[in-house]
Amino acid sequence: MLLKLFQAGHPVLANKAQKVSPEKLRDPKTQQLIDLMIDTLRDYPGVGLAAPQVGEDLQIIVIEDKKEYHEKVPKKLLSEQGREPVDLAVLVNPVLEIVDMTEKFYFEGCLSVDGYRAVVPRASRVVVNALDRTGKPVTVDASGWYARILQHEVDHLNGTLYVGRMVANSFISESMYSKDWNKAGFSLIKERFLR
Ligand code: ZN
Repeated sequence: MLLKLFQAGHPVLANKAQKVSPEKLRDPKTQQLIDLMIDTLRDYPGVGLAAPQVGEDLQIIVIEDKKEYHEKVPKKLLSEQGREPVDLAVLVNPVLEIVDMTEKFYFEGCLSVDGYRAVVPRASRVVVNALDRTGKPVTVDASGWYARILQHEVDHLNGTLYVGRMVANSFISESMYSKDWNKAGFSLIKERFLR
């Protein structure tokens, strides 16, 4: 079964999500929610999904960036973006700390802002402390694209969509993105949108 994706404008996407208690995390219903979030993420496919996006007011995110998703991205762009495969991660009650605030500007999309993309500045490196799905504390130290995904997903738990952080005049339709911008590196983005 796949979960329904809530779209921008729904209040669940605009509020701070609730912390998950140890009892709540152990609850089979929460464990099933996590499984269904993973299925939904993989079906789309996307690289990250936060519980509010499926209508659940809980601090849970799932992330996975499979190697096969990179096949159509030029190698040069992958390396410029610092994008490497990320194994499935389930992060509960994540707390994000910015370690290197140097901003990187690339296009981002969101399963809850269907049909659009925009250039979003994100910090270069973050550390996230969270619990895994069994309740064990985990620390993720991420740079490059993984740092971007983490910032995007933790933002969801604070009621923030990328549109609240984007370079305003870079908001474009998915069709324009796939036509002109899906292989664009920073120099083109800078020339067109960051003047
Ligand atoms: Zn999103």
